[in-house]
Amino acid sequence: ASTLGVMGGGQLGRMFVHAAQRLGYFTAVLDPDVASPAGLVSHVHVQTDYLDEQGLAQMLQRCAAITTEFENVPAGALYTLGAHLPAAPGAEAVAVCQDRAREKRHFEQCGVPCAPHALIETPEQLAGVDAALLPGILKTARLGYDGKGQRRVATRAELALAWDELKRAPCVLERLLPLAFEISVILARNADGELVSLPVQQNLHRDGILAVTQVPAPNVPAGLSAAARDAAGRIAEGLGYVGVLCVEFFVLQDGTLVVNEMAPRPHNSGHYSIDACDVSQFELQVRCMTGLPLVAPRLHSPAVMLNLLGDLWFDADGRERTPDWAAVLALPGAHLHLYGKSSAQRGRKMGHLTLTADTPEAARATALRAAERLGLPAF
Ligand code: ATP
Ligand code: MG
Ligand code: MG
Repeated sequence: ASTLGVMGGGQLGRMFVHAAQRLGYFTAVLDPDVASPAGLVSHVHVQTDYLDEQGLAQMLQRCAAITTEFENVPAGALYTLGAHLPAAPGAEAVAVCQDRAREKRHFEQCGVPCAPHALIETPEQLAGVDAALLPGILKTARLGYDGKGQRRVATRAELALAWDELKRAPCVLERLLPLAFEISVILARNADGELVSLPVQQNLHRDGILAVTQVPAPNVPAGLSAAARDAAGRIAEGLGYVGVLCVEFFVLQDGTLVVNEMAPRPHNSGHYSIDACDVSQFELQVRCMTGLPLVAPRLHSPAVMLNLLGDLWFDADGRERTPDWAAVLALPGAHLHLYGKSSAQRGRKMGHLTLTADTPEAARATALRAAERLGLPAF
């Protein structure tokens, strides 16, 4: 069997490895962390920095195709590998996704509306910022995730302070939009331009981090769901994208659909597909890399996913504990995924729990019971 390589050894890489191995492939993971979640379960774990020449040479030698799971793997590494191996996604598409300014330009070129925004790279741009962008959110153009590298600002003074706090890195200031709720679309596109997508997910964030995903999306009428899938498809086609792509959207209080950002890989909001669809987002990633057929995933069970952050590993007095897994596994339709991370930290993604059932109402009811048993807030 041939070996499939993944850049990055986090939980997304781990679930990719599971899917690849199930289809009979060997896997190679490149991640500097000796105890990375994907490295622990992969046949081969190359433990070097992403740009290390010897590490890249090892991946080249071993792999038949390459993918990435970590948004911030330097596009240069993918570029080097992609010159010799099929790479899905390609370095160029990843480079666009890694830079919020380029990403927004791409959305505009595809005719998909995004939040009004301005690039802030110089003190002049800061001083000249349009007052209509306040109140807003200042986001570093690169390397942000889970709400890190972002500051909410209401006034020019707060904006200036926030930019200092973000070390005057290149930033995008976005207008704070009146959100009704958030959704995402995960799609897969192959080298022949064939495209399939998962059903639309509805996502609840807490403190900038995904907390709950519900499918079918409770507040999304069919027309909106079709519009989101269509917009995501245009965004992928415009990039000549090959691989799995997630596009996050805001739905505003007046019903308008606005694109937020994209991730060039499987996404936290698609984890439910492992247990609730007949093809998961990770299997789609394997199929895209290897030229295996793409089929549209069918949701066979309504599902709710709860993210399990490191906070659950601490009691009220800050002492470490193990969450009561037996209590949630006693619920019918509970699918527990733990990522094998060596230490818990607040805000760190340690695992997720998907609850499936016959009906959306039943999935939600079970998820609420699971949340209560774990000490998570209701939704
Ligand atoms: P991810 O982990 O999804 O990559 P991120 O750090 O890149 O997150 P964003 O998706 O840009 O962050 O923003 C995080 C959350 O903050 C959004 O899901 C949304 O809830 C809120 N948010 C971001 N931008 C806006 C905006 N312009 N108006 C209102 N809310 C926003
Ligand atoms: Mg992001
Ligand atoms: Mg986001």
